[in-house]
Amino acid sequence: MATDRRRTKIVATVGPVTSTHDAVRALVDAGVDAIRLNLSHGVHADHEARANVVREVQAETGKPLALIADLQGPKLRIGDLDQPRILLKDEEVVVVGDMHASNGELPIAPAVISEVLRPGHDILIDDGLVRLSVQEVGNGRARCRVIVGGEIKSHKGVNLPGVPVPIPSLTKKDLDDLEFALGLGADFVALSFVRAAADVRDLQAIIRQHGSPARVIAKIEKAEAIECLEEVLLEADAVMVARGDLGVEIGAATVPLLQKRIILRCLEAGKPVITATQMLESMIEHAEPTRAEASDIANAILDGTSAIMLSAETATGNYPVEAVRTMDSIARAVEPSMGYRHQMPTPGEETTVGRAMSNAACDLAEALGARAILVPTFTGRTASAVARLRPRRPVIGLSHHQTSVQQMALEWGVTPVLMPQSDDVEDLWSRSIDSALKSGAIDAGDRVVLTAGTAVNLPGSTNVIKVDVA
Ligand code: PEP
Repeated sequence: MATDRRRTKIVATVGPVTSTHDAVRALVDAGVDAIRLNLSHGVHADHEARANVVREVQAETGKPLALIADLQGPKLRIGDLDQPRILLKDEEVVVVGDMHASNGELPIAPAVISEVLRPGHDILIDDGLVRLSVQEVGNGRARCRVIVGGEIKSHKGVNLPGVPVPIPSLTKKDLDDLEFALGLGADFVALSFVRAAADVRDLQAIIRQHGSPARVIAKIEKAEAIECLEEVLLEADAVMVARGDLGVEIGAATVPLLQKRIILRCLEAGKPVITATQMLESMIEHAEPTRAEASDIANAILDGTSAIMLSAETATGNYPVEAVRTMDSIARAVEPSMGYRHQMPTPGEETTVGRAMSNAACDLAEALGARAILVPTFTGRTASAVARLRPRRPVIGLSHHQTSVQQMALEWGVTPVLMPQSDDVEDLWSRSIDSALKSGAIDAGDRVVLTAGTAVNLPGSTNVIKVDVA
């Protein structure tokens, strides 16, 4: 029954503990809709093997899965250390650009860091667990005092909150990883540390040059991205509230309200949004979540997030399947309390025909108690426009493009279904109903509302609503 489906989507990061066919199958059976490959870690051969397993599991289960390749982006990191190093509170340490470090100095990559540090800057290491304060700079070196001590290992992440660092948004590693990911057929490419809308545009241009239909997820994790959120939202195909680095960059206390703001703006813009990081952190080690984690997941869902994401919980944790099941059961418990977001355009707002159509289709489905809203769509964007209203009726997104079907797996409340291509609009309606019936999402005799464009196979032309009986 379509109405039994969970509406909020679950993204799982696969890694060392979830690389085999059986491990990925177990995640999907537990309810995962999208798989993230975190290209900050690991080698291409391992990611390729995981991507192959994902597509095998998709073929075996018949469940479309979105494949997300997450690029590292311009992340600062500790360079190579011979061995982990303990820094003690109030100790002095000299920070230097990678490659130039000599005895006892702490290398940070890329080397340009030594040009931007000024006295008073904070250097946060390993998600802010270790904190240094810059005292003096000179000769490409920064003399720092340890404010919060701790252990430092090679390649741990480094953040310089509020300090612009002149590094391109796509590093050489990102460009190599991007080519690799597009070769794997990734449905989404996530861009880390977005600082400007142009970062998103540049990545989209490269993706198009490769002839790939992959969409870009802008990861919001820097103050700069918050400052230009509207411009980034306009360009991005989807957004991730990347709470890990965001919390380090702007402080954990600011994250909850920002999460709500970003999700609301994505809802208004009709773009999928993923809430990520530390959602079930304790389940890396334990089989049960904390009550605070359960509340955090519930709140993200009530905020209106399209998807919730697991990172280390499923990549390296001891209870990957239990973590997915936990998310699934929290979502099912919370979703019946969510409101339908019927929207009348506010005075002065320039609504598009497509947006007005999706509003009307949802209203009609609610009023008639339709079994489902069927959305035949070229790119999946009409399904996003319908999903942004969070209708209580199930949404069936149908496309003859395999990639669009996989991309819709990330969209709130949308059951993606592959359908044959149609040449005229009557054929489109009947094939949509047939495909929805075959998928098991609706039954013969069910009343359905269909919405689509009559210029068949032309993206962005939604202009018809039809009520029918399957
Ligand atoms: C984050 O910082 O919250 C995040 C999702 O990014 P990553 O996991 O790539 O560090």
